Amino acid sequence: MQLPEPVRERGAVNKVLETVKDPEIPVLTIEDMGIVRAVDFEGDGVQVSITPTYSGCPAMDTIAEDIRSALTLHGYREIEIRTVLSPAWSTDFISENGKKKLEEYGIAPPSTSARGALLGHEAVHCPQCKSENTVVVSEFGSTACKALYKCQDCLEPFDYFKCV
Ligand SMILES: [Zn+2]
Repeated sequence: MQLPEPVRERGAVNKVLETVKDPEIPVLTIEDMGIVRAVDFEGDGVQVSITPTYSGCPAMDTIAEDIRSALTLHGYREIEIRTVLSPAWSTDFISENGKKKLEEYGIAPPSTSARGALLGHEAVHCPQCKSENTVVVSEFGSTACKALYKCQDCLEPFDYFKCV
């Protein structure tokens, strides 16, 4: 199979990165997640800098591998995935579009009020009926990055993407 000639432009790389999904939330791309910090072209290669989301999230290894495979398919060579730890990723990096997709997927998007979280009375909206009358069922939902909540109005359980 003949691989395409890679386009050495940030825009072209972005298009490829937009096809890489978050392994835990398949409706979100890594661009929606705000993980990609920089794309550089040094020498013959391409360097993609990413910021890990939750520390110790095993998804990061998968994401790095997925970026590598997607770029390889598009003809890029000498792909280097760099990890940038500062500034630390926070849920604020998730794009507005990403938050909308999360909600449509049935996961309550992270509350924009980080202060509320600190005060311990963060308002988590039910993604089904938008009610704020929700309770935490378990601090750990389907993955460590999510908490399991239940809506007391429509009685639906749902995942909440925890703020960091
Ligand atoms: Zn509800």
